[in-house]
Amino acid sequence: MHCAAAATLAALAFALPAYSQAAPAPSTIVLRAARVIDGTGHTLLHQDIVIAGARITAVRPASGPLPAGGIDLGARTVLPGLIDTHVHLAWYITTRGRLHTDSDGDTPATAALAQAANAWATLRAGFTTVQSIGEEENGSLRDAIDRGWIPGPRVLTSLGSIDSASAGGSPDSLRALVRRFKAQGADLIKIFASKSIREGGAATMTPAQLNAACGEARVLGLRSLVHAHSAESVRRAVNAGCTQVEHGIFADDAARAAMATHGTFFDPQCGLVFRNYLDHKSWFEGIGNYNAAGFAAMEGAIPLAEAGIGAAGRTPQLKLVFGTDAVGGAHGRNAEDLVCRVRRGGLPAMDVLVSATSRAAESLQLEHEIGRIAPGFSADVIATDGDPSTEIEAALRVSFVMRNGIIYRNDPPAPPGGDSHD
Ligand SMILES: [Zn+2]
Repeated sequence: MHCAAAATLAALAFALPAYSQAAPAPSTIVLRAARVIDGTGHTLLHQDIVIAGARITAVRPASGPLPAGGIDLGARTVLPGLIDTHVHLAWYITTRGRLHTDSDGDTPATAALAQAANAWATLRAGFTTVQSIGEEENGSLRDAIDRGWIPGPRVLTSLGSIDSASAGGSPDSLRALVRRFKAQGADLIKIFASKSIREGGAATMTPAQLNAACGEARVLGLRSLVHAHSAESVRRAVNAGCTQVEHGIFADDAARAAMATHGTFFDPQCGLVFRNYLDHKSWFEGIGNYNAAGFAAMEGAIPLAEAGIGAAGRTPQLKLVFGTDAVGGAHGRNAEDLVCRVRRGGLPAMDVLVSATSRAAESLQLEHEIGRIAPGFSADVIATDGDPSTEIEAALRVSFVMRNGIIYRNDPPAPPGGDSHD
């Protein structure tokens, strides 16, 4: 027995190097699509997308019979997995119908599972990458998804945020805080340079503070995302060389032009975040600045937001990216803001799709990895019933989701002539 075991071990020792030297070839799958929106503004018809393992290896005109194991997506439109550059995956609505807070009695396990549910809802909606900005627990979520423990989008996170009073607010202490986030594994730095929209949105951070925080992030190779509502706060963020401005409800033409000139990415929201608060006041009312004045401010922000989206779209060279600021109640509804940008902001549908694919990828410095249907890119592929470049509402009808080559959703095709989305 002892000898047999030894012989088996010897055989294993002999066999193992062979396995480690020649990793099995990744399995190949072909997706056949009637229409492919490539993420850079082009549409290709009748294509085969070849995927080996987690990568797209070829995109070519469809021809011949579909190889065994291939998937014919029929009349559906294929797009790169969508990207939302601003969400809050840790925010959820409790079973008691309230925004979760630290003191509401929910256990950490419940909060973690709620966060996982938000991630799954987001992935099912076709968003294969998100930037979750501001919560420490996003780090555990990011890592659990990366390990394959749970399904979800690729997550980048700041793990927390910095404001004008953080660590006493001196430039040196803000720099130290940026270094601490980096050491903790943050993918980016989130900075509040103005008050909330519910408190008027005036600038809070001084130019010296912003120079310190965004400058230190740059030195460490991290991007800096700056919450800024007033035109002054936007200009300060631009002048400090910060990477991206969030919100910008009160940005004016000069502020938009400054962002364009400096190559600052701009991520304004159109309507989902406001509608989610206003349509479900009872979830939020009485928590922090969710009060009558706060709701009135958000009501007033909606026309400004819609007009601001249009103005941003008309600003030459402005790098407009897609982000929803999805909080509790809005996860999985991210595409509603794509619709808003077209229908309420007046932007061309194809440009809105680019803002949520290749341009969003550029804002994440992942432009060689995600956001395009092209050889070499990560196999993040979704399909919609209908063509969102001509009817943006089709982005709400995601029926196929692949991320990193793994299929998470493939609904049966809609019956011909029928409407499966009533
Ligand atoms: Zn936010």
